[in-house]
Amino acid sequence: MKGLKRFLLVIGLLLFAGVATHFYFFPPEREVKDEVRETNEEELIEEEESGGYVTFWFDDGLLSTYEVAYPALEERGWEGALAIVAGREIALEKFEPEGDSIMSWDQVRELEEKGWEISSHSMTHTNLSEVRDNDSLKKEIITSKEILEEKDFEVNSFVFPYGDPGNEVVYDLVMENYSYWRLTTSGVNSVPSTKRLETLFLTECADREEIDKWIEKTEEKSGWLIIVLHSILEEPIGWWQQTPEQFNMVLEAVEESSLEIVLPKDIFEKYGYKEDCLSNVEINEVPRTVISESDFNDNQVEIVIPSINVRTSLKLAFSEGEEIDFSYLDDHPVMISENESPFLSSLGEYGTGLILCHRNLFFRELDKLEKEEEFMIVKNDREIVYEVFDSIEVAPDDVWEQVKEIHEKGLSAEESNVILMTCTPYGLGWDRLLVFGRTVENMN
Ligand SMILES: [Zn+2]
Repeated sequence: MKGLKRFLLVIGLLLFAGVATHFYFFPPEREVKDEVRETNEEELIEEEESGGYVTFWFDDGLLSTYEVAYPALEERGWEGALAIVAGREIALEKFEPEGDSIMSWDQVRELEEKGWEISSHSMTHTNLSEVRDNDSLKKEIITSKEILEEKDFEVNSFVFPYGDPGNEVVYDLVMENYSYWRLTTSGVNSVPSTKRLETLFLTECADREEIDKWIEKTEEKSGWLIIVLHSILEEPIGWWQQTPEQFNMVLEAVEESSLEIVLPKDIFEKYGYKEDCLSNVEINEVPRTVISESDFNDNQVEIVIPSINVRTSLKLAFSEGEEIDFSYLDDHPVMISENESPFLSSLGEYGTGLILCHRNLFFRELDKLEKEEEFMIVKNDREIVYEVFDSIEVAPDDVWEQVKEIHEKGLSAEESNVILMTCTPYGLGWDRLLVFGRTVENMN
């Protein structure tokens, strides 16, 4: 993952000229509840019959996968999938500062011989939307696969670094060269599955309650859950890493469920592909409009709020090194990159996006927005229409709690939300005003 994301710790940002008003986002407090799942015998029987599938997919080819995950899975007779960065030296440079090392080719081979599935995770683990020329893109997508194949690995799938889908060229190259692929979009896959796979991307906050929720959802729809893991470290330093105890907790939860452990290739061999999403016309195969990070590259994303006469370009804020660059906020509303937090998604994806603006700039009259009023995010001819469904005022410390809640609700209800945030009251800014919008196409 990119740098050390401080987002979950603190974002300080100046909202009013002359008034030092900061947004502080705190990580959601870990609630360790020993809630007993309320199940009676009938439900238990039903659960066992409904079934479903689960895959453990380990990204980046990290040494802790070999040293911690592999023995734990082998003990249980399970296999996993491995996303390997073909440029191993570059991978070492990137992942060593994150507290782990990488597996040797011999170790990768050992896992494949034990039945693990290998996928390509690009050549240099770079955000593909930042790769400008097609030759370099081909290297990331095609050469990476060739290198793995020269080493006699069977490679069917591509895992997008940072879940960044890049542009149309990227997507075409991936579709032409791979049988299926994975971003970091949250969700439970159906069976049979589309070629574009959705995931449960585990964060440092992973707890039993969350895992059980996802398992139940998978069992309910007899679907296929892909659990994505990275480093397993005694002392995690990134929000995408877990401790060995958390990892064991996940294994136990799966063990106690009715889900069957599978590899991606097993699912596709057994069930084939879901037909309706094979078209290569759209960069996003999902039937909803999505405006992703790469859409911000040419500065043509706009936010339109007709009832308060707002129409202006929307900028993207993401980290350069340790801190998020909020310099655009002086002149524009800013959307926080989904890469900055596990509780944010791209516009149009399930979950929530988060857009901030100074109250004295475009969000002066944000409090006038009424329920059911619409606002839009526009990119060229694409448009996502949101309908306001609520607005609240909260203390700065409570903002994060709200974002997390809306995001999780969005994921479980398969709704795509966005939160517009500014300071309130106007001119004083003690608190935060949050206006919640939900895409119209997903509303009942
Ligand atoms: Zn990765």
